Amino acid sequence: MKGQTSFFEALVGQIRLIHGDGPVPLHRPVFEGNEKRYLSECIDSNFVSSVGARVAEFERQIAEFTGARHAIATVNGTAALHVALRLAGVEPGDEVISQALTFIATCNAVSYIGAVPVFVDVDLDTLGMSPNALCAWLDAHTERRDGEAYNKTTGRRIAACVPMHTFGVPCRIQDIVSTCRDYGIPVVEDAAESLGSYVGKRHSGTFGALATLSFNGNKTITTGGGGMIITDDDALAKRAKHITTTSKVPHPYEFVHDEVGYNYRLPNLNAALGCAQMERLPAMLAIKREIAHRYRDFFAGRAGARFVEEPAGTTSNYWLNAIVLDSQRDRDELLRYTNEQGVMTRPIWRLMTGLPMFKDCQHDGLVNSLWLEERVVNLPSSVPEGAFGRLRT
Ligand SMILES: *Cc1c(COP(=O)(O)O)cnc(C)c1O
Repeated sequence: MKGQTSFFEALVGQIRLIHGDGPVPLHRPVFEGNEKRYLSECIDSNFVSSVGARVAEFERQIAEFTGARHAIATVNGTAALHVALRLAGVEPGDEVISQALTFIATCNAVSYIGAVPVFVDVDLDTLGMSPNALCAWLDAHTERRDGEAYNKTTGRRIAACVPMHTFGVPCRIQDIVSTCRDYGIPVVEDAAESLGSYVGKRHSGTFGALATLSFNGNKTITTGGGGMIITDDDALAKRAKHITTTSKVPHPYEFVHDEVGYNYRLPNLNAALGCAQMERLPAMLAIKREIAHRYRDFFAGRAGARFVEEPAGTTSNYWLNAIVLDSQRDRDELLRYTNEQGVMTRPIWRLMTGLPMFKDCQHDGLVNSLWLEERVVNLPSSVPEGAFGRLRT
């Protein structure tokens, strides 16, 4: 790239304007609200573990914020996905359609069930599953039997489709859901990265039969570790609660469990943290949006990199800001320069098909995924220290 050094210098300057001097992390958690108070109350109450009022309160807050009828808290986002896939009906030996450009958790959850992922390509603008690629793959590779879709090559049932809203940018979820409906395939949205992202006025994760969120330490809000299943379906919600809490049949003192369940419930201590974080979520989203706009303005009209923006008609939470460089060489040089300057930037994930566990999985060629894999870089996206104070004034 011509004028590369001055471009990199200007970028680091811009990042420091937003995030200050000293080492800049990619994404740090922010505890500037009631976190300590709620944790301390939780410890004083002795209800630190699997029983306690904060879990139900956190679930209510998430249901209200997302507009989902039900929210079921879990120990982490991977556990939430594992259970959501089971509830969608995925069984050992089935296939699950997903994207190769995702975080490993998506496919680990598929593997826990003994199912196999199949990968379709992503769109260049959303970085999420492409409905056109999905449609083309289903059209070429499946046949319908008794209202279900089967892979003509492997003979396996296609039991679910898991699109992911990459970095909080909403994918074309409505088209994906409508295509899957035609084929009788349930959609489980991996909304781990998209709390606060919308398509129109509707929150991401409320389009599929089920969706999952993550509250890991690097996500928009954190509970230390934690996750959530959201759904509008009363029966699925009931079953989600049941199997994530050891499938225990309610009884005042007897231990009766009616199927193999999981100890996947979120401890009250973590939920207390979540309740405090939820109070700040709208303010956090406003600040993250402001940061994204400053990056967007910086890259506007500048050759060499494209800033990944929310597509028209959608709202991104801008969890992790991302740019697309012109070439892998430019990307590598940007990563080296910024990290040497103490500014943490990261490449996008290695494609799932580039990992030993998933290298033999069926896919559609993944043209866009491969292209993006070489070029996408994430920029520091935390809410800066003291930003809440500034926002209030
Ligand atoms: C964070 C994340 C998850 C869940 O991760 P946990 O660490 O288990 O909470 C799942 N999918 C994606 C795409 C993620 O980014």
